[in-house]
Amino acid sequence: MTSNKPKCKYFFGFRAAVFSISIIIFLLLIAKIKTALIIQREKRTLSFKNHNLTMSWMCSGTTNIELVKNLAQAKIISCKRVISAMRTVDRAHFANQHPYEDAPQCIGFGATISAPHMHGYALENLNQYLRPGMNALDVGSGSGYLTACMAEMVGASGHVVGIDHAPGLVSHSKAAMERHYPEWIQNGRVHLVVGDGRKGYAPMAPYDCIHVGAAAPEEPTDLLSQLKSPGRMFVPVGTSEQYIVVYDKDTNGNVARRQIMGVRYVPLTDLEKQYSA
Ligand code: SAH
Repeated sequence: MTSNKPKCKYFFGFRAAVFSISIIIFLLLIAKIKTALIIQREKRTLSFKNHNLTMSWMCSGTTNIELVKNLAQAKIISCKRVISAMRTVDRAHFANQHPYEDAPQCIGFGATISAPHMHGYALENLNQYLRPGMNALDVGSGSGYLTACMAEMVGASGHVVGIDHAPGLVSHSKAAMERHYPEWIQNGRVHLVVGDGRKGYAPMAPYDCIHVGAAAPEEPTDLLSQLKSPGRMFVPVGTSEQYIVVYDKDTNGNVARRQIMGVRYVPLTDLEKQYSA
């Protein structure tokens, strides 16, 4: 009888130890599963956040059609009219260096043609304001490529003004337009003018939409005043930190602002500063 007591004590002690270890293993397992789930969720968020960043720069092609296909596959462009305009207007007509590379390219006069993905984002955002017959303004028209895409979208009854302060760029873009789309210049679908785009272009205002191809240091109020009600402007705003801001003017003239992505654009500036930069 006496010899059973310690055995029983050991037995219960052993069971308690096994029970405690099982509880610890169970808790550890739960913690591990939780961590794995959090890591997976973080990874998904990160890949979503970086989607634009990574995909944007991976859309280069060897032809215009391939470039546009890649932009559509990366979901940078999805509106049929945007895809069709970008397929119709060949970038090589406006930029002779690496036209199908998804990166900005030098076009002389201290300027660059923006990267294709930025042109894609701009057209996609302005699509509803580039319907046939509409009136649009392209500030900092540079190569003239985006002006041409906008002209393709507004059609024969629409108008697009491209304004740039560099006379050399305006004559180059006009020459390209006259060569590839002669009727657009002849019948006034496209006007390419030399001037300070910060003030817009009053003779053809108001505009259904305004695209700005260089960064405004702050809210471009002169341009906003040339926007129709309703109308939309797509503009990079800022200096050291820049964002694309989409301004929507409603039918009552009220303006709403949306920052849609961080960017790096050359500034809207004085011509002398651009030449010496
Ligand atoms: N959107 C064009 C050019 C982008 S580069 C393209 O993709 O081809 C920015 C352009 O803005 C340059 O052509 C530059 O000459 C022009 N620019 C800069 N400041 C300007 C100003 N104050 N008025 C008009 N154009 C300006």
